Amino acid sequence: MVESGECSGAKPSGEVWAGLVPLDSRYSDVEIISNESVISSEISTSSFDKHNWCKIIRNSDSCSASIKNKSPNTILVDEAAVLSQETVVIKDGSEVISGPDREGFLRYRFNIMPSLEISQKKLKIYMDAGHAKCSICLNIWHDVVTVAPCLHNFCNGCFSEWLRRSQEKHSSVLCPQCRAVVQFVGRNHFLHNIAEEILEVDSSLRHSNEDIALLDSYASVRSNLIIQSGKMHRRKRARSPVDGHSDGLDLPCPQCGTESGGFRCNHNTVHLQCQACGGMMPSRMGAGVPQHCLGCDRAFCGAYWHALGIMTSNSYPVCSPETFRPISEYSISRIPVSAHEENQHEQNITESCIRQMGRTLQDVVAEWIAKFNSREIDRTSTTLNHAEIITANTHVCSDCYDKLVSFLLYWFRISIPKYCLPPDSSRREDCWYGYACRTQHHNEEHARKRNHVCRPTRGS
Ligand SMILES: [Zn+2]
Ligand SMILES: [Zn+2]
Ligand SMILES: [Zn+2]
Ligand SMILES: [Zn+2]
Ligand SMILES: [Zn+2]
Ligand SMILES: [Zn+2]
Repeated sequence: MVESGECSGAKPSGEVWAGLVPLDSRYSDVEIISNESVISSEISTSSFDKHNWCKIIRNSDSCSASIKNKSPNTILVDEAAVLSQETVVIKDGSEVISGPDREGFLRYRFNIMPSLEISQKKLKIYMDAGHAKCSICLNIWHDVVTVAPCLHNFCNGCFSEWLRRSQEKHSSVLCPQCRAVVQFVGRNHFLHNIAEEILEVDSSLRHSNEDIALLDSYASVRSNLIIQSGKMHRRKRARSPVDGHSDGLDLPCPQCGTESGGFRCNHNTVHLQCQACGGMMPSRMGAGVPQHCLGCDRAFCGAYWHALGIMTSNSYPVCSPETFRPISEYSISRIPVSAHEENQHEQNITESCIRQMGRTLQDVVAEWIAKFNSREIDRTSTTLNHAEIITANTHVCSDCYDKLVSFLLYWFRISIPKYCLPPDSSRREDCWYGYACRTQHHNEEHARKRNHVCRPTRGS
Protein backbone atom coordinates (compact mmCIF):
# COMPACT_ATOMS: atom_id res chain seq x y z
CA MET A 1 0.00 0.00 0.00
CA VAL A 2 1.35 3.39 -0.91
CA GLU A 3 0.20 6.51 0.85
CA SER A 4 1.48 10.00 0.36
CA GLY A 5 2.95 11.60 3.43
CA GLU A 6 1.57 14.63 5.19
CA CYS A 7 1.69 17.66 3.02
CA SER A 8 1.34 20.75 5.08
CA GLY A 9 2.24 23.37 2.49
CA ALA A 10 2.22 26.75 4.19
CA LYS A 11 -0.42 25.77 6.75
CA PRO A 12 0.66 25.52 10.39
CA SER A 13 2.17 22.08 10.76
CA GLY A 14 3.21 22.03 14.40
CA GLU A 15 6.70 21.33 13.13
CA VAL A 16 9.71 23.59 13.29
CA TRP A 17 10.08 25.06 9.81
CA ALA A 18 12.89 27.52 10.48
CA GLY A 19 15.19 28.77 13.18
CA LEU A 20 17.44 31.60 14.24
CA VAL A 21 20.77 30.17 15.30
CA PRO A 22 23.01 32.47 17.35
CA LEU A 23 26.66 32.54 16.32
CA ASP A 24 27.62 32.59 19.98
CA SER A 25 26.80 29.14 21.32
CA ARG A 26 26.14 30.41 24.87
CA TYR A 27 22.73 31.49 23.62
CA SER A 28 20.15 29.00 22.55
CA ASP A 29 18.59 28.48 19.13
CA VAL A 30 15.19 30.04 18.46
CA GLU A 31 12.87 27.52 16.86
CA ILE A 32 10.10 28.87 14.65
CA ILE A 33 6.90 26.84 14.42
CA SER A 34 4.00 29.07 13.49
CA ASN A 35 3.85 30.79 10.11
CA GLU A 36 3.90 34.21 11.75
CA SER A 37 6.08 34.30 14.82
CA VAL A 38 7.11 37.19 17.00
CA ILE A 39 10.63 36.33 18.07
CA SER A 40 11.46 36.76 21.69
CA SER A 41 15.12 36.23 22.44
CA GLU A 42 18.29 37.82 23.71
CA ILE A 43 19.38 40.82 21.67
CA SER A 44 22.29 42.31 23.55
CA THR A 45 25.53 40.54 24.38
CA SER A 46 25.60 42.35 27.72
CA SER A 47 22.44 40.71 29.13
CA PHE A 48 20.43 37.54 28.90
CA ASP A 49 17.09 39.44 28.95
CA LYS A 50 14.69 38.47 26.19
CA HIS A 51 12.83 40.99 24.05
CA ASN A 52 10.23 40.83 21.31
CA TRP A 53 12.41 42.29 18.61
CA CYS A 54 11.24 40.95 15.27
CA LYS A 55 8.50 39.05 13.53
CA ILE A 56 9.17 36.33 10.97
CA ILE A 57 6.53 35.48 8.41
CA ARG A 58 6.81 32.36 6.30
CA ASN A 59 6.56 32.82 2.55
CA SER A 60 4.60 30.40 0.41
CA ASP A 61 7.66 29.47 -1.66
CA SER A 62 9.06 27.50 1.35
CA CYS A 63 12.55 28.86 0.71
CA SER A 64 12.25 32.43 1.96
CA ALA A 65 10.52 34.45 4.66
CA SER A 66 9.86 38.08 5.60
CA ILE A 67 11.32 39.66 8.69
CA LYS A 68 9.73 42.72 10.28
CA ASN A 69 11.81 44.78 12.67
CA LYS A 70 9.67 45.16 15.84
CA SER A 71 12.38 46.76 17.94
CA PRO A 72 12.80 50.52 18.29
CA ASN A 73 16.36 50.16 16.97
CA THR A 74 17.66 49.46 13.53
CA ILE A 75 18.65 45.83 12.93
CA LEU A 76 21.02 44.42 10.31
CA VAL A 77 19.89 41.82 7.80
CA ASP A 78 22.53 40.47 5.44
CA GLU A 79 24.68 43.50 6.23
CA ALA A 80 21.93 45.97 5.31
CA ALA A 81 20.20 48.23 7.85
CA VAL A 82 16.48 47.57 8.45
CA LEU A 83 14.72 50.41 10.25
CA SER A 84 12.12 49.93 12.97
CA GLN A 85 8.80 48.59 11.56
CA GLU A 86 10.44 47.90 8.19
CA THR A 87 10.07 44.48 6.52
CA VAL A 88 12.59 42.70 4.26
CA VAL A 89 12.91 39.26 2.71
CA ILE A 90 15.32 36.74 4.23
CA LYS A 91 16.48 33.45 2.81
CA ASP A 92 17.99 30.30 4.19
CA GLY A 93 21.44 31.30 5.44
CA SER A 94 20.67 35.02 5.88
CA GLU A 95 22.48 36.79 8.69
CA VAL A 96 20.35 38.75 11.15
CA ILE A 97 21.90 41.03 13.80
CA SER A 98 19.56 42.15 16.57
CA GLY A 99 20.79 45.74 16.62
CA PRO A 100 22.42 48.43 14.51
CA ASP A 101 25.96 47.20 15.06
CA ARG A 102 27.92 43.96 14.76
CA GLU A 103 29.41 44.71 18.20
CA GLY A 104 27.27 44.38 21.30
CA PHE A 105 24.33 42.66 19.59
CA LEU A 106 23.60 39.04 18.84
CA ARG A 107 24.30 37.64 15.42
CA TYR A 108 21.86 35.04 14.21
CA ARG A 109 21.79 32.83 11.16
CA PHE A 110 18.32 32.28 9.71
CA ASN A 111 17.82 28.65 8.68
CA ILE A 112 14.95 27.03 6.89
CA MET A 113 14.77 23.40 7.90
CA PRO A 114 16.08 21.49 4.91
CA SER A 115 14.35 18.21 5.63
CA LEU A 116 10.81 19.54 5.87
CA GLU A 117 10.14 20.05 2.20
CA ILE A 118 11.57 16.67 1.35
CA SER A 119 9.80 14.83 4.15
CA GLN A 120 6.49 16.31 2.99
CA LYS A 121 6.97 14.69 -0.36
CA LYS A 122 8.25 11.38 0.95
CA LEU A 123 6.08 8.36 0.34
CA LYS A 124 5.44 5.85 3.04
CA ILE A 125 5.43 2.32 1.71
CA TYR A 126 4.01 -0.47 3.81
CA MET A 127 5.44 -3.78 2.91
CA ASP A 128 5.01 -7.28 4.22
CA ALA A 129 8.48 -8.52 5.17
CA GLY A 130 7.45 -11.88 3.71
CA HIS A 131 7.70 -10.38 0.23
CA ALA A 132 11.35 -9.51 0.86
CA LYS A 133 12.53 -13.06 1.39
CA CYS A 134 14.91 -15.18 -0.63
CA SER A 135 13.22 -18.40 -1.74
CA ILE A 136 16.51 -20.30 -1.41
CA CYS A 137 17.40 -19.55 2.22
CA LEU A 138 13.98 -18.21 3.30
CA ASN A 139 15.53 -15.21 5.04
CA ILE A 140 15.30 -11.50 4.17
CA TRP A 141 17.49 -10.89 1.10
CA HIS A 142 21.12 -10.25 1.84
CA ASP A 143 22.85 -8.28 -0.98
CA VAL A 144 19.86 -8.94 -3.23
CA VAL A 145 20.21 -9.87 -6.91
CA THR A 146 17.46 -9.93 -9.52
CA VAL A 147 17.37 -12.44 -12.37
CA ALA A 148 15.79 -11.77 -15.75
CA PRO A 149 13.54 -12.22 -17.61
CA CYS A 150 11.40 -13.57 -14.72
CA LEU A 151 12.57 -10.85 -12.22
CA HIS A 152 12.77 -13.06 -9.13
CA ASN A 153 15.08 -11.96 -6.32
CA PHE A 154 17.60 -13.86 -4.19
CA CYS A 155 20.57 -13.30 -1.92
CA ASN A 156 23.72 -12.79 -3.97
CA GLY A 157 25.41 -15.68 -2.14
CA CYS A 158 22.42 -18.04 -2.50
CA PHE A 159 22.04 -17.38 -6.22
CA SER A 160 25.79 -17.49 -6.89
CA GLU A 161 25.99 -20.95 -5.36
CA TRP A 162 22.96 -22.04 -7.42
CA LEU A 163 24.60 -20.60 -10.55
CA ARG A 164 27.85 -22.43 -9.87
CA ARG A 165 26.07 -25.77 -9.38
CA SER A 166 23.80 -25.32 -12.40
CA GLN A 167 26.80 -24.60 -14.59
CA GLU A 168 28.44 -27.83 -13.43
CA LYS A 169 25.41 -29.97 -14.24
CA HIS A 170 23.24 -28.29 -16.83
CA SER A 171 23.55 -26.38 -20.03
CA SER A 172 21.27 -23.62 -18.85
CA VAL A 173 20.61 -21.88 -15.57
CA LEU A 174 17.02 -22.07 -14.34
CA CYS A 175 15.44 -19.66 -11.89
CA PRO A 176 15.33 -21.42 -8.49
CA GLN A 177 11.85 -20.02 -7.91
CA CYS A 178 9.97 -20.42 -11.20
CA ARG A 179 12.30 -22.57 -13.39
CA ALA A 180 12.42 -20.00 -16.18
CA VAL A 181 15.74 -19.91 -18.05
CA VAL A 182 17.86 -17.15 -16.57
CA GLN A 183 19.56 -14.91 -19.11
CA PHE A 184 20.71 -12.14 -16.87
CA VAL A 185 21.47 -11.42 -13.22
CA GLY A 186 22.37 -8.16 -11.54
CA ARG A 187 22.50 -6.59 -8.11
CA ASN A 188 19.37 -4.68 -7.20
CA HIS A 189 20.29 -1.56 -5.23
CA PHE A 190 16.70 -0.43 -4.81
CA LEU A 191 15.59 -3.69 -3.20
CA HIS A 192 18.82 -3.72 -1.18
CA ASN A 193 17.75 -0.48 0.48
CA ILE A 194 14.28 -1.86 1.15
CA ALA A 195 15.76 -4.98 2.77
CA GLU A 196 18.00 -2.77 4.93
CA GLU A 197 15.00 -0.73 6.05
CA ILE A 198 13.04 -3.85 6.96
CA LEU A 199 15.96 -5.09 9.05
CA GLU A 200 16.19 -1.74 10.76
CA VAL A 201 12.56 -2.04 11.86
CA ASP A 202 12.82 -5.70 12.89
CA SER A 203 16.33 -6.78 13.71
CA SER A 204 15.12 -10.28 14.65
CA LEU A 205 14.93 -10.95 10.89
CA ARG A 206 18.66 -10.45 10.49
CA HIS A 207 20.89 -13.26 9.27
CA SER A 208 23.42 -14.41 11.86
CA ASN A 209 26.96 -13.12 11.41
CA GLU A 210 28.12 -16.61 10.40
CA ASP A 211 25.38 -16.77 7.73
CA ILE A 212 26.42 -13.42 6.35
CA ALA A 213 30.09 -14.39 6.21
CA LEU A 214 29.16 -17.59 4.37
CA LEU A 215 26.83 -15.81 1.94
CA ASP A 216 29.46 -13.17 1.22
CA SER A 217 32.03 -15.86 0.53
CA TYR A 218 29.72 -17.44 -2.08
CA ALA A 219 28.64 -14.13 -3.65
CA SER A 220 30.02 -13.81 -7.16
CA VAL A 221 27.68 -11.27 -8.74
CA ARG A 222 29.44 -7.91 -8.69
CA SER A 223 28.07 -6.28 -11.79
CA ASN A 224 25.45 -7.48 -14.28
CA LEU A 225 26.10 -10.99 -15.61
CA ILE A 226 24.83 -12.13 -18.96
CA ILE A 227 24.15 -15.84 -18.92
CA GLN A 228 23.88 -17.59 -22.27
CA SER A 229 21.08 -20.06 -22.47
CA GLY A 230 22.04 -23.58 -23.49
CA LYS A 231 19.43 -23.59 -26.21
CA MET A 232 20.89 -20.60 -27.98
CA HIS A 233 24.28 -22.14 -27.72
CA ARG A 234 23.39 -25.52 -29.19
CA ARG A 235 21.84 -23.82 -32.15
CA LYS A 236 25.05 -21.90 -32.73
CA ARG A 237 27.20 -24.96 -32.33
CA ALA A 238 25.20 -26.83 -34.92
CA ARG A 239 25.80 -24.01 -37.33
CA SER A 240 29.52 -23.47 -36.89
CA PRO A 241 32.12 -26.18 -36.45
CA VAL A 242 33.69 -26.38 -32.99
CA ASP A 243 37.15 -25.41 -34.15
CA GLY A 244 36.06 -23.19 -36.99
CA HIS A 245 36.03 -19.42 -36.98
CA SER A 246 32.57 -18.15 -36.49
CA ASP A 247 31.47 -14.96 -38.16
CA GLY A 248 30.86 -13.70 -34.62
CA LEU A 249 27.44 -12.29 -35.40
CA ASP A 250 25.46 -14.11 -32.72
CA LEU A 251 28.29 -14.48 -30.26
CA PRO A 252 28.55 -11.95 -27.49
CA CYS A 253 32.32 -11.49 -27.23
CA PRO A 254 35.62 -11.79 -29.15
CA GLN A 255 36.57 -14.88 -27.13
CA CYS A 256 33.32 -16.73 -27.82
CA GLY A 257 34.33 -18.10 -31.18
CA THR A 258 38.08 -17.76 -31.00
CA GLU A 259 40.66 -18.76 -28.47
CA SER A 260 42.98 -16.02 -27.31
CA GLY A 261 45.42 -15.95 -24.41
CA GLY A 262 44.65 -19.63 -23.79
CA PHE A 263 40.96 -19.11 -23.15
CA ARG A 264 37.81 -19.52 -25.17
CA CYS A 265 34.24 -19.05 -23.92
CA ASN A 266 32.13 -22.20 -23.67
CA HIS A 267 28.44 -22.75 -23.00
CA ASN A 268 28.98 -22.22 -19.26
CA THR A 269 30.71 -18.90 -19.63
CA VAL A 270 29.02 -16.03 -17.89
CA HIS A 271 29.60 -12.65 -19.51
CA LEU A 272 29.99 -9.18 -18.06
CA GLN A 273 28.75 -6.13 -19.89
CA CYS A 274 31.16 -3.21 -20.04
CA GLN A 275 29.70 0.02 -18.68
CA ALA A 276 31.67 2.16 -21.10
CA CYS A 277 31.12 0.52 -24.50
CA GLY A 278 28.30 -1.94 -23.84
CA GLY A 279 30.42 -4.82 -25.16
CA MET A 280 30.73 -8.22 -23.51
CA MET A 281 33.64 -10.05 -21.96
CA PRO A 282 33.77 -13.39 -20.17
CA SER A 283 33.61 -13.11 -16.37
CA ARG A 284 36.90 -14.62 -15.23
CA MET A 285 37.86 -14.87 -11.59
CA GLY A 286 41.52 -15.68 -11.89
CA ALA A 287 42.40 -13.93 -15.14
CA GLY A 288 44.88 -11.65 -13.38
CA VAL A 289 43.43 -8.57 -15.08
CA PRO A 290 40.84 -6.40 -13.33
CA GLN A 291 37.40 -6.47 -14.92
CA HIS A 292 35.64 -4.32 -12.34
CA CYS A 293 36.29 -0.80 -11.14
CA LEU A 294 37.03 -1.03 -7.44
CA GLY A 295 35.55 2.42 -6.88
CA CYS A 296 32.07 1.62 -8.22
CA ASP A 297 31.97 -2.18 -8.76
CA ARG A 298 30.93 -1.72 -12.38
CA ALA A 299 32.47 -3.83 -15.15
CA PHE A 300 34.87 -2.28 -17.70
CA CYS A 301 36.48 -4.15 -20.58
CA GLY A 302 39.43 -1.87 -21.47
CA ALA A 303 42.12 -3.52 -19.34
CA TYR A 304 40.98 -7.08 -20.13
CA TRP A 305 41.07 -6.82 -23.92
CA HIS A 306 44.18 -4.66 -23.84
CA ALA A 307 46.02 -7.40 -21.90
CA LEU A 308 45.00 -9.88 -24.63
CA GLY A 309 45.99 -7.50 -27.42
CA ILE A 310 42.42 -7.40 -28.76
CA MET A 311 41.37 -4.13 -30.33
CA THR A 312 37.97 -2.89 -31.30
CA SER A 313 36.58 -4.34 -34.52
CA ASN A 314 33.39 -4.16 -36.50
CA SER A 315 32.05 -7.29 -34.84
CA TYR A 316 32.46 -6.36 -31.18
CA PRO A 317 32.64 -3.18 -29.18
CA VAL A 318 35.91 -3.09 -27.22
CA CYS A 319 37.09 -0.15 -25.11
CA SER A 320 40.39 1.58 -25.49
CA PRO A 321 42.53 1.12 -22.37
CA GLU A 322 42.06 4.81 -21.48
CA THR A 323 38.56 4.22 -20.13
CA PHE A 324 39.79 1.93 -17.35
CA ARG A 325 43.36 2.21 -16.07
CA PRO A 326 45.47 2.58 -12.95
CA ILE A 327 44.98 5.82 -11.03
CA SER A 328 48.64 6.75 -11.51
CA GLU A 329 48.28 6.57 -15.30
CA TYR A 330 45.57 9.20 -15.65
CA SER A 331 46.46 12.76 -16.49
CA ILE A 332 44.33 15.76 -15.68
CA SER A 333 44.15 19.31 -16.97
CA ARG A 334 40.84 20.55 -15.61
CA ILE A 335 39.20 20.51 -12.18
CA PRO A 336 36.37 17.94 -12.29
CA VAL A 337 32.84 19.39 -12.19
CA SER A 338 32.16 17.34 -9.07
CA ALA A 339 34.95 19.09 -7.11
CA HIS A 340 33.98 21.16 -4.06
CA GLU A 341 30.40 19.88 -4.23
CA GLU A 342 30.08 21.40 -7.72
CA ASN A 343 30.53 24.90 -6.26
CA GLN A 344 32.19 26.81 -9.05
CA HIS A 345 33.37 29.69 -6.88
CA GLU A 346 35.38 27.28 -4.78
CA GLN A 347 36.72 25.53 -7.88
CA ASN A 348 37.93 28.90 -9.22
CA ILE A 349 39.61 29.70 -5.91
CA THR A 350 41.42 26.35 -5.91
CA GLU A 351 42.45 26.90 -9.50
CA SER A 352 43.88 30.34 -8.78
CA CYS A 353 45.72 29.03 -5.71
CA ILE A 354 47.41 26.41 -7.87
CA ARG A 355 48.32 29.08 -10.42
CA GLN A 356 49.70 31.41 -7.76
CA MET A 357 51.88 28.61 -6.45
CA GLY A 358 53.30 28.27 -9.94
CA ARG A 359 52.15 24.68 -10.13
CA THR A 360 49.93 22.65 -12.45
CA LEU A 361 46.80 20.74 -11.54
CA GLN A 362 48.48 17.54 -12.71
CA ASP A 363 51.37 18.17 -10.36
CA VAL A 364 49.15 18.93 -7.34
CA VAL A 365 46.93 15.90 -8.00
CA ALA A 366 49.97 13.62 -8.35
CA GLU A 367 51.30 14.88 -5.03
CA TRP A 368 47.99 14.20 -3.28
CA ILE A 369 47.62 10.78 -4.88
CA ALA A 370 51.00 9.97 -3.36
CA LYS A 371 49.73 11.13 0.04
CA PHE A 372 46.58 9.05 -0.45
CA ASN A 373 48.70 6.07 -1.41
CA SER A 374 50.88 6.38 1.68
CA ARG A 375 47.76 6.64 3.84
CA GLU A 376 48.37 10.20 5.02
CA ILE A 377 44.72 11.02 4.32
CA ASP A 378 41.65 9.83 6.19
CA ARG A 379 39.67 7.85 3.63
CA THR A 380 36.41 7.47 5.54
CA SER A 381 34.67 10.31 3.73
CA THR A 382 35.35 9.17 0.16
CA THR A 383 32.36 8.15 -1.89
CA LEU A 384 34.34 5.33 -3.51
CA ASN A 385 33.55 1.71 -2.71
CA HIS A 386 36.40 -0.32 -1.23
CA ALA A 387 38.30 2.91 -0.47
CA GLU A 388 40.45 1.12 2.09
CA ILE A 389 42.16 -1.10 -0.45
CA ILE A 390 42.56 1.39 -3.29
CA THR A 391 46.15 2.33 -4.16
CA ALA A 392 47.74 4.41 -6.92
CA ASN A 393 48.02 1.21 -8.99
CA THR A 394 44.34 0.32 -8.72
CA HIS A 395 42.40 0.33 -11.99
CA VAL A 396 39.46 2.72 -11.81
CA CYS A 397 37.00 4.11 -14.34
CA SER A 398 37.17 7.77 -15.30
CA ASP A 399 34.12 8.64 -13.15
CA CYS A 400 35.82 7.20 -10.09
CA TYR A 401 39.06 8.97 -10.97
CA ASP A 402 37.15 12.27 -11.00
CA LYS A 403 35.59 11.41 -7.64
CA LEU A 404 39.00 10.66 -6.19
CA VAL A 405 40.46 13.90 -7.55
CA SER A 406 37.54 15.87 -6.08
CA PHE A 407 38.16 14.21 -2.71
CA LEU A 408 41.89 15.02 -2.88
CA LEU A 409 41.28 18.62 -3.94
CA TYR A 410 39.22 19.12 -0.78
CA TRP A 411 42.20 18.04 1.31
CA PHE A 412 44.53 20.15 -0.79
CA ARG A 413 42.35 23.24 -0.26
CA ILE A 414 42.01 22.85 3.49
CA SER A 415 45.78 22.39 3.73
CA ILE A 416 46.29 25.90 2.31
CA PRO A 417 46.56 28.51 5.09
CA LYS A 418 43.82 31.13 4.84
CA TYR A 419 46.26 33.97 4.21
CA CYS A 420 47.44 32.24 1.04
CA LEU A 421 43.99 32.33 -0.55
CA PRO A 422 43.04 35.20 -2.88
CA PRO A 423 42.34 38.23 -0.59
CA ASP A 424 38.56 38.45 -1.12
CA SER A 425 38.07 34.75 -0.47
CA SER A 426 40.31 34.59 2.61
CA ARG A 427 38.12 37.21 4.31
CA ARG A 428 35.03 35.01 4.07
CA GLU A 429 33.64 33.25 7.10
CA ASP A 430 32.98 29.52 7.02
CA CYS A 431 29.41 28.51 6.26
CA TRP A 432 28.12 26.55 9.22
CA TYR A 433 26.93 23.79 6.99
CA GLY A 434 30.36 23.58 5.35
CA TYR A 435 30.64 21.37 2.29
CA ALA A 436 27.22 19.89 3.09
CA CYS A 437 25.48 23.26 2.63
CA ARG A 438 22.58 23.04 0.19
CA THR A 439 22.18 26.79 -0.09
CA GLN A 440 25.48 27.09 -1.98
CA HIS A 441 23.79 25.38 -4.94
CA HIS A 442 20.89 27.76 -5.38
CA ASN A 443 22.06 30.99 -3.77
CA GLU A 444 24.80 32.57 -5.82
CA GLU A 445 25.45 35.30 -3.29
CA HIS A 446 25.72 32.88 -0.40
CA ALA A 447 28.10 30.67 -2.36
CA ARG A 448 30.30 33.68 -2.98
CA LYS A 449 30.14 35.17 0.52
CA ARG A 450 30.88 32.09 2.61
CA ASN A 451 33.63 29.55 2.51
CA HIS A 452 32.26 26.09 1.80
CA VAL A 453 35.48 24.11 1.76
CA CYS A 454 35.21 23.29 5.46
CA ARG A 455 33.52 20.82 7.75
CA PRO A 456 29.90 21.36 8.78
CA THR A 457 29.70 22.71 12.31
CA ARG A 458 25.92 22.79 12.56
CA GLY A 459 22.93 21.00 11.15
CA SER A 460 23.14 17.57 9.69
ZN1 LIG B 1 19.09 -16.38 0.36
ZN1 LIG C 1 11.95 -16.83 -11.60
ZN1 LIG D 1 32.49 -14.86 -24.80
ZN1 LIG E 1 34.29 3.31 -11.19
ZN1 LIG F 1 34.19 -1.60 -22.96
ZN1 LIG G 1 26.40 27.57 3.02
